[in-house]
Amino acid sequence: MIRCLILGSGPAGYTAAIYAGRANLSPVLYQGILPGGQLTTTTDIENFPGYPLGISGFEMMEDLKKQAERFGTDIRTGIATSVDFSEKPYKVTIDGKSVIEAETVIIATGATAKYLGLPDEQRYAGSGVSACATCDGFFYRNKTVAVVGGGDTACEDALYLSNICQKVYLVVRKNYLRASEIMQQRVKKSEKIDILFEHNVTGLFGDGVVEGAMLLKRKGETDEEEITLSIDGLFLAIGHHPNSEIFKKYLETDETGYFKTLANGVSTKVEGVFIAGDVGDPHYRQAITAAASGCKAAIEAEDYLYSL
Ligand code: NDP
Repeated sequence: MIRCLILGSGPAGYTAAIYAGRANLSPVLYQGILPGGQLTTTTDIENFPGYPLGISGFEMMEDLKKQAERFGTDIRTGIATSVDFSEKPYKVTIDGKSVIEAETVIIATGATAKYLGLPDEQRYAGSGVSACATCDGFFYRNKTVAVVGGGDTACEDALYLSNICQKVYLVVRKNYLRASEIMQQRVKKSEKIDILFEHNVTGLFGDGVVEGAMLLKRKGETDEEEITLSIDGLFLAIGHHPNSEIFKKYLETDETGYFKTLANGVSTKVEGVFIAGDVGDPHYRQAITAAASGCKAAIEAEDYLYSL
């Protein structure tokens, strides 16, 4: 019987593990689909307090993992594939095979990158289409790529790729960027980045690998125009969807799938089940806010266990 089961290995999951470990709850943490979470696919983290010079996402997650291990967390590989929260102890199936039982569960399963939904994205998956600039950017050295999106992720990816590639197009569907002012300024200052406002990607072409994209400029307007862009790679940076699917039978979510929590931000209507990180946060979605909710979830789990 696991006292505190943590699903997910981003800043929320590891912070919950550190707190649960120090509270002698002998936490067990399953790393999930992407060990280390989304931060392992970002570049430098400059806004996490305590790192005046910034830190790479990968390094930060390695440090968090070591810190969780230091306090006795049992870190395991595996993905939760189904749950049964209908009675205690709660049951969680890992990798569709083994069923484990837990007194408390902290769900920190994060969010996954969104795609446009074009058939060509699947056709060229791994051959010119990616949702992770820091994972795949290396393959596009001195080439031309496009990044889709107008948020902080898209700007960060465009900047990262501009250090590797010969040319980067930033394809934005609106006539403005949604990213923070500092990121906007950096992108606009880069000579290698061309921002294509009011453009939508409609398809890709190429013989086995991406050689170009079809775009629609000012979609739906009277001066709508079809454009062809020669590119070697397309990077999606259009947001994420929360990994809440397997829990929906027992826990409430909003219309986009983010968990709804009670007033403290981490408890749910199922006692002993808590939410931490991006999977319950459609708004802030920062490493620091995820870590904070991991801390809160572990403290609530501890309070709950001692109240039994
Ligand atoms: P956002 O939701 O902020 O932005 C998504 C972008 O993708 C928007 O420009 C949106 O356009 C566009 N988009 C969405 N769907 C489509 C579509 N189908 N076709 C074309 N464009 C589309 O997501 P991010 O991942 O950029 O950021 C998420 C959160 O993480 C934010 O809070 C952000 O601040 C934060 N973040 C912070 C970083 C940092 O501080 N260093 C780094 C990265 C992220 P539209 O504007 O038209 O809706």
